[in-house]
Amino acid sequence: MSTPRLLGLTSTIPVEVALAGGWTPVDLNNRFITHPDPAGLMQRAEDLGLPRTLCAWIKGMYAWCLDHPEVATVVGITRGDCSNTHGLMELLARQGRGIVPFDYPDAADPEGLERSLARLADDLGADLARAEQVRRELEPLRDDLERLDRLTWQQGKVNGAENHLWLVSASDFDGDPEDFAARLRAFLAEAEARPAQEPRVRLGLLGVPPIMDGLHDTLEQMGAAVMFNEVPRQFAMLPGEQGHAPNLSEQYRRYTYPYEVGGRIVDIKRQAERRGLHGLIHYTQTFCWRQMQDSPLRESLGMPLLTLEGDRVGPVDARTRLRLEAFVEVLG
Ligand code: SF4
Repeated sequence: MSTPRLLGLTSTIPVEVALAGGWTPVDLNNRFITHPDPAGLMQRAEDLGLPRTLCAWIKGMYAWCLDHPEVATVVGITRGDCSNTHGLMELLARQGRGIVPFDYPDAADPEGLERSLARLADDLGADLARAEQVRRELEPLRDDLERLDRLTWQQGKVNGAENHLWLVSASDFDGDPEDFAARLRAFLAEAEARPAQEPRVRLGLLGVPPIMDGLHDTLEQMGAAVMFNEVPRQFAMLPGEQGHAPNLSEQYRRYTYPYEVGGRIVDIKRQAERRGLHGLIHYTQTFCWRQMQDSPLRESLGMPLLTLEGDRVGPVDARTRLRLEAFVEVLG
């Protein structure tokens, strides 16, 4: 058996192209946060000189990569992510890792996105026609993720934490789409047999994945359920009301995360209405530029919105817990 060629990802990219090129995708965010000691990884990055005033995700991914030289190539998103990721790519390049650039042009520039896809395919030695075939092969898996999402907001049979974990893991399918699909089917069979539940308060969670542990579960203990995980749902590219996109370029044009905030606002409003949400929590990461998107979200969404900020790995702290309790109380 040949050794898998591992491709590190710092954010969601057209994973179908990587799979078509015979690569095994490895989402570095997921590896960092599911590591047995993510706080230790962050500390190690700081000991190596990365500043305290740098987003925790970047430090965690960097330290994880240092321990995993087998991830010899990493895709660096040059537009549509953040300048911290650019800095991370420079550091990894200096450690001898190969860097493959990928950029998300403007959402209104489908030809630009097609050029980016073609360049990525070229760099990864993949055939775009094969990548389109992979996209079609992944449709049943994405349909199952849609089922999982509906079991969350329509019947309360899948809780917010489970929903989050499955959807964020769809950025790389844990490196093995077939195995992921089989595990997902088994999970759905088990979840469907659970009794339906209706929470007192229905919430949406916006923003980058929280670095803190147990946010969803903490809310559940207060009688509130997260029925919409905005960014994880975007990572998973669910068919939604429109059905599957007809091609890769359209699929990654519909993806709201890398583009300007207006597309996110339209998506969040629609999902809040469909899901009957009572309120929204906007999670922001300390030292992340996306904190600037809090104002437009707050001004445009017209719903109760609580902004939370997280810095380091660890459980939900007492102050955050108090703020959540007050918010849930008011909504309830
Ligand atoms: S949380 Fe913000 S700063 Fe950190 S990697 Fe993500 S986009 Fe960049």
